[in-house]
Amino acid sequence: MFHLKINQNYLNLQESYLFKTIAQRVGSYKAENPEAEIIRLGIGDVTRPLAPVVVEAMRRAAAEMGDAATFRGYDDGGVGYDFLREAIAGYYAGKGVELEPDEIIVSDGAKSDAGNLLDVFAPDASALIPDPVYPVYVDTNVMAGHAIHYIDGCEQNGFLPSPGDVPPGVEPDIIYLCSPNNPTGAAYNREQLGAWVEWALGRRAVIFFDAAYESFVRDREIPTSIFEIEGARGCAIEICSFSKLAGFTGVRCGYTVVPRSLTADGVKINALWRRRQTTKFNGVSYITQRGAEAALSPKGLAQCMENVTYYLENAKIIADAMSARGIWFTGGLNAPYIWMRCPDGLDSWAYFDKLLRDKNVVGTPGEGFGENGKYFFRLTAFGSRENVVRAMERMGGR
Ligand code: PLP
Repeated sequence: MFHLKINQNYLNLQESYLFKTIAQRVGSYKAENPEAEIIRLGIGDVTRPLAPVVVEAMRRAAAEMGDAATFRGYDDGGVGYDFLREAIAGYYAGKGVELEPDEIIVSDGAKSDAGNLLDVFAPDASALIPDPVYPVYVDTNVMAGHAIHYIDGCEQNGFLPSPGDVPPGVEPDIIYLCSPNNPTGAAYNREQLGAWVEWALGRRAVIFFDAAYESFVRDREIPTSIFEIEGARGCAIEICSFSKLAGFTGVRCGYTVVPRSLTADGVKINALWRRRQTTKFNGVSYITQRGAEAALSPKGLAQCMENVTYYLENAKIIADAMSARGIWFTGGLNAPYIWMRCPDGLDSWAYFDKLLRDKNVVGTPGEGFGENGKYFFRLTAFGSRENVVRAMERMGGR
């Protein structure tokens, strides 16, 4: 009928049944057991309110927008106001990482950037993606028609695959690393990340480092930015977000750090990424950017960290309960996720059903994050303290 052809790669996407199936199973259990009080430990979204300093900054910014003298239209260029990029550079300086504000490109979130970054690379690029993984990396590479190679996370490597786990002969162009990790909560230490940087430099591959959960790191041996590792400026792009640091999942603000010196095909990736963003994106709202700036102020960081600490304490309660039951897990420290081996050899959907039926607790089957998640289960620390404590009491016995 039409001459217009679709991007056939979209037909190769696997339908994501994970959260739909969870909702259906919980819905039918609830219909049969209306009195059941279900506790959800499957939420990957934050639940704590924005920090007061952030709310106040956004109120002030909204008032500025309502006054002709201070009204603002488009954010020039759409890569973020100087005040926010300077605040982010200051945040990195606190980690001992020197960045030029030009190396920081502000966006509406890490998810968009993770996917959109592929626009600036060739259609025949290949990606190395851990399994299990945040599903966005896989789907966006399928959409782009890229060859995908997987690298196994497993109990033996603590779900922190290293270059030694790369299948022989695989020479990827893009390497995805997420630390602290969703879904496993595992985080690379300095030495492990250093091995990846060295491996990428040796192959002229680019690491996409997803630091969305950096604010959960409390252990000094765990880098919160790949740029803490020597050599990373020559091989890495870092994707980060205010979603988990400042509870911005509904506000929307993130950023990507592309070192000026980073090149592919002899071309500066920073310039290409700016070109992409200024062509297809018109920037994050002024009000949001003022809120993000406030989150990085000393008072803002202190208030945001109260929320992060609250989630970390939840994570510890879950992790301690797993240890007490002798259940193998990763995460729970430096991360809001606990990735547990399903008890009694159950697969993740069988355990999901058992947990729902016997304990009225909902989590996320590991299989939804890749084949290697088949016998694992993700619990999250984003719920209320009361619910976390009650869920662990219920899960205490088999
Ligand atoms: N990266 C990872 C690993 C995530 O788990 C998430 C959200 O859950 C994101 C990125 C998305 O971040 P944003 O809200 O900034 O799009």
